[in-house]
Amino acid sequence: MSEPLTIGGRAVAGTPGLDVVDPATGRVFATAPACTDAELSAAVDAAHDAWPAWRVADRGAALTAAADAIAAAADDLAPLLTAEQGKPLADARAELVRAADRLRHHAFLRPEPRVLRDDGTERVEVRWRPVGPVAAIAPWNFPVQLAAAKIAPALAAGNTVVLKPSPYTPLTTLSLGRLLAGVLPPGVLNVVSGPEPLGERLVAHPGIRQVTFTGSVATGRRVAASAGPNLRPVTLELGGNDAAIVLPDADVPAIADALFWSAFANCGQICMAVKRVYVAADRHDELVDALAARAASVPVGAGSDPGTRLGPLTTAPQYRRVAGLVAAALSGGARAAAGGGPLDRDGYFHAPTILTGVADTDRIVTEEQFGPALPVLTYDSVDEAVARANATPYGLCGSVWGVDVDRAVAVAERLQVGTAWVNSHLRMSFDDPFAGTKDSGLGVSGGEWGVSAHTEPYVLHRPS
Ligand code: NAD
Repeated sequence: MSEPLTIGGRAVAGTPGLDVVDPATGRVFATAPACTDAELSAAVDAAHDAWPAWRVADRGAALTAAADAIAAAADDLAPLLTAEQGKPLADARAELVRAADRLRHHAFLRPEPRVLRDDGTERVEVRWRPVGPVAAIAPWNFPVQLAAAKIAPALAAGNTVVLKPSPYTPLTTLSLGRLLAGVLPPGVLNVVSGPEPLGERLVAHPGIRQVTFTGSVATGRRVAASAGPNLRPVTLELGGNDAAIVLPDADVPAIADALFWSAFANCGQICMAVKRVYVAADRHDELVDALAARAASVPVGAGSDPGTRLGPLTTAPQYRRVAGLVAAALSGGARAAAGGGPLDRDGYFHAPTILTGVADTDRIVTEEQFGPALPVLTYDSVDEAVARANATPYGLCGSVWGVDVDRAVAVAERLQVGTAWVNSHLRMSFDDPFAGTKDSGLGVSGGEWGVSAHTEPYVLHRPS
């Protein structure tokens, strides 16, 4: 099977160039087009041509119709998302529904003009206008949800988009492009796929006026460098190495489930998943036992199997990377309280793993593992825990867990992150401004902040 590119509202079969692998088997099951230079330019041109009408169109109604179309297709598209990404079918369906909800939520959001001065002789207003064709680049962990997070604010603000999914997971996004070509005006949303350097060429294309990117820190730096010569603004949503601090007064039985799933949902492949746990030394054994019991019993399998809660890792390189980080920690003296390595079966399955006795310098602590393996480290004082949680170039999110909520809030305020939670992690509404600090990102997405980020201000002076 394959899916076409969407360029200017037309389905373009393109040239096959991407093999798409089912991570549950490790075998190729489909192909996707490798967009040529000419097709990329046609997509950017189509976005340009569509922009003048789109910026004055009834965008709210059109985006609501797009949301309805995605929601109506969720059952049909979920198996394709599971096949290319690996997640359980119910999660794939939920991702599609959430993408539709995000589009619907943003449909009517617009930055409000602001009167700066009105002194009876002159009125001065700040207004906002869209920037033009936006390049939107998504990763493979939530292909649809993150594509929606890119396109919803950009389109709501009055821009047009050229969207590029990850080469590992292009199919559901291409399929959505084809679906929405029947709902949105031609050229408003163009979808292209292909191996790198397609993303780099898209970012550097002179017709692109702004770039919104979600992916790794390393690629984010390259995106900023490619956008630099054309002086194009970029929004970068990058990796995280989120710490969870479990305070001495935490109610371990009450929080264990939430903490476990904050680390292991989507097989640990979430930018803002818990990636390190710091627990008060005298609560360590109780917490490790609780997490290990869950890791040892969670059903792992193909996403298409209805009993599965954790699927495979999505890509072969990521599977090898997680296995390598776990093996390195174990050979350095860490102990696996659960799991400890890949599962002996086809596909990219790794046992849910809880590691103890890990050193602060182990790579599974210093780097973003992005997989189903969680190091649990002890601390002696809360000050020390905060210092170690902050001792990272990342600054996406973090959480603090304890019964005394005011005390936990005081600790959470000290985390160098864009979002901090008390007694939860991963919870987020479409309205939240989402921004990483330090190396975890540049710019803000989410709700009205995200829509404003896709506009530029201009000032209008007029007689009162
Ligand atoms: P990645 O950086 O390898 O790739 C992301 C996208 O960038 C892909 O579409 C890829 O084809 C494209 N790309 C690669 N090189 C490029 C270049 N030079 N110019 C332009 N585009 C280029 O990331 P990934 O492995 O797909 O995703 C995992 C990473 O994404 C993790 O680090 C994760 O934390 C991060 N992530 C961040 C967020 C967030 O909102 N902060 C959300 C999800 C994932």
